Amino acid sequence: MSLTDQPCQCPCCDYYTLTERGAHEVCPVCYWEDDGHDLDRLDEVSAVCHITLRQARANFAAFGAADQAAISLVASREEILGLRRELRANV
Ligand SMILES: [Zn+2]
Repeated sequence: MSLTDQPCQCPCCDYYTLTERGAHEVCPVCYWEDDGHDLDRLDEVSAVCHITLRQARANFAAFGAADQAAISLVASREEILGLRRELRANV
């Protein structure tokens, strides 16, 4: 399966980059590690990412990565062009 037809939405950047949820896949677009947190647990600190999903989503909006350390690791703009994304508002 290519990155352009993954079935599951990343809880941080809202791109469809994951093959399944809660399986500790690292999203190539924002570098959030998916521990199963979603918008219903925005303010719970992730044990693996060490920040809240709300903070990670704000980080992605501000500088394109879930946290500062991932800025140099995330996919380039060209790489994420064409990926499916459905923006969700923080609740
Ligand atoms: Zn992501």
